[in-house]
Amino acid sequence: MYTLATLEPLIVRLREVQHLNSAASLLSWDQETYMPAGGGQARADQLATLQGLAHDKLVSPEVEALLMRWVDPSTGQARDQLGDAWDEPSRALLRETWRDFSRARKLPSEFVKRLGRECSLAQQVWAEARAQNSFKRFLPNLRTIVALKLEETRYLGYRDSPYDALLDTYEPGSTVAELTPLFATLKARLVPLLNRVTQSRTAVDDALLFQAYDQTRQVEFGKLVLTAMGYDFDRGRLDLSAHPFTTSFHPTDVRVTTRVYETEFSACLFSCIHEGGHGLYDQGLDQERYGTPLGEALSLGIHESQSRLWENCVGRSRSFWRCFYPLLQQLFPEQLQAVELDRFYMAINRVTPSLIRVEADELTYNLHIMLRFEIERDLIEGRIAVEDLPAAWNDKMRAYLGLVPPTDADGVLQDVHWSLGAIGYFPTYALGNLYSVQLYEQARRDIQGLEEEIRAGRLTVLKQWLNQKVHRWGRAFTADHLIRRITGGPLSPEPFLAYLEKKYGELYRLSG
Ligand code: ZN
Repeated sequence: MYTLATLEPLIVRLREVQHLNSAASLLSWDQETYMPAGGGQARADQLATLQGLAHDKLVSPEVEALLMRWVDPSTGQARDQLGDAWDEPSRALLRETWRDFSRARKLPSEFVKRLGRECSLAQQVWAEARAQNSFKRFLPNLRTIVALKLEETRYLGYRDSPYDALLDTYEPGSTVAELTPLFATLKARLVPLLNRVTQSRTAVDDALLFQAYDQTRQVEFGKLVLTAMGYDFDRGRLDLSAHPFTTSFHPTDVRVTTRVYETEFSACLFSCIHEGGHGLYDQGLDQERYGTPLGEALSLGIHESQSRLWENCVGRSRSFWRCFYPLLQQLFPEQLQAVELDRFYMAINRVTPSLIRVEADELTYNLHIMLRFEIERDLIEGRIAVEDLPAAWNDKMRAYLGLVPPTDADGVLQDVHWSLGAIGYFPTYALGNLYSVQLYEQARRDIQGLEEEIRAGRLTVLKQWLNQKVHRWGRAFTADHLIRRITGGPLSPEPFLAYLEKKYGELYRLSG
């Protein structure tokens, strides 16, 4: 039997690639948190050099020679030799390394540099175009990026839709053929549910969340909740950034950020919980496997399932606040002493159609994603032209959310993703939402008395379950395999829809 020990010469090289990537991640973290504004251009050059080195090291002749010895290029699977077989971890490591290697090798390095340069340019123009509310300003850059992404699909190859090649970058194996009916099911149930909620006579007032809350205390409370979740501050830290994110250099150094606004209570806390969910995943990866695919997160969809599970299934539940609300009241007596738990619970779960994805509630969030999925798919399949994006955007907003953005800054220009070349990324957010409820329902079945534990503020039992079921495996399984192993079934929108229908049926007192 061949084991990981056999693969040591390969693992040593993969680890070196990871060292370069981790150094680049540290530079990016610094850029978003403490770097002075003037450092931007030099930092972009430093990052480009490190990323180029990492790429070259991965596609080096040494790595290629080792892989060709052990992997059958026609199947991308480990080669069984002379009747001897590989154990499961080695098989998975070879399969996933081959995937990374062959994808990286398909893209000419001249193309990678060209794309990088255009994206860095486009990102600046996008920020200006959004500030000036001018889609026309961004249009030439967006045209270039779309053309480059189409070029990329030709290098990567695809069977049915060119959009599949882009989806596969973020969610391996995900396709238009799979997502189209999935999102159609979601839309068919979410739109009517949203209509019933907006027409219900139950008015939810969330004004209490928009009083003045001391910012230092908000961050203090965020830290308290992170600690209760089992986020390890000896192996992590919390800082402020304009857009909250999580980054990891190693399971022993995983950092999260949040943002804090005095008169918008939800922003800081729910970012802390959300990023904390991501952080627990990265802290829970197997240290021994660092640098190999077995020590890496499985996909963006699975990563997002971890953040959404904590943010929504736990952090927006009554059980969670049973314990944490009295603590919050102690920190903010002036604002919350007279507010009953139930009113607070209603406020943090208020549903309202809105223009901006990142501010959307649990119910409307996936409608924002669906719109982006349909637009990206049609764009890449050649059914919409780049200049028609604002009109397509507004039509879909009206159809799904009953709103038309008054400006493109609040519409088609709101997200940074396209300027980064990240087309095909958005669907992973919706997948994360679906996976999160499937996993949480399974946790409730597996862990006796989970609800009581959460009510008592003991959250680590859930963290340990996630460590065992999801985190420690890295990329040992595909997302499909992992979710079947844990829940006994494939990805399904049903648990998510049932969860929303029950939660908001009660909250808004919808009948039958
Ligand atoms: Zn996230």
